[in-house]
Amino acid sequence: LLPGRATRVRELIADVPDFPSPGILFKDITPLLADAEGLADVVEAFTRLVPAGGVDLVAGMEARGFLFGAPVAHALGVGFLPLRKAGKLPPPTSSVSYDLEYGSASIELRAGTLDPGARVLIIDDVLATGGTAAAAAELVEQCGGVVAGLAFLLELEALHGRDRLTGRNVDTLLRVS
Ligand code: AMP
Repeated sequence: LLPGRATRVRELIADVPDFPSPGILFKDITPLLADAEGLADVVEAFTRLVPAGGVDLVAGMEARGFLFGAPVAHALGVGFLPLRKAGKLPPPTSSVSYDLEYGSASIELRAGTLDPGARVLIIDDVLATGGTAAAAAELVEQCGGVVAGLAFLLELEALHGRDRLTGRNVDTLLRVS
């Protein structure tokens, strides 16, 4: 983010204690999305995180990754790839399962939407434990794509999500310890 803009964007992300369960400090981006300048600043900042070599597609994690991923893809002049929660896409799909705090989840990609070797930038709002992002990267690779990078609005450093993404090109616009 441009110097001087980061503080304002930070203020537009609300801290909601104990949501969706006790002990979780939820980072709510609703005020940021509703703010024209804040939204524009974040989309513009994401477009500057494109890895060397460029990208062919932007992929966004359902659901908040869609809100930034699609405008970033548009700004870059490339297509957008939705990485969906299980059961939302018609077959054929590729899927990757990953562990959650309680139980597991899977994410899916419509088969045949990725050209072999396509360079993909994966976008989401929050990097927490990194489980979701690691699964997203695995899914893109399983479908023949190349993960050019992963970019997040906010990194929760205390949860060490980067450790799940070792060797990958990870960028975050804001960090909280
Ligand atoms: P994780 O797999 O633990 O890195 O969690 C990342 C996913 O969960 C992202 O899609 C986030 O949108 C969401 N998430 C995790 N923790 C939070 C949080 N404290 N506030 C808001 N969203 C979160």
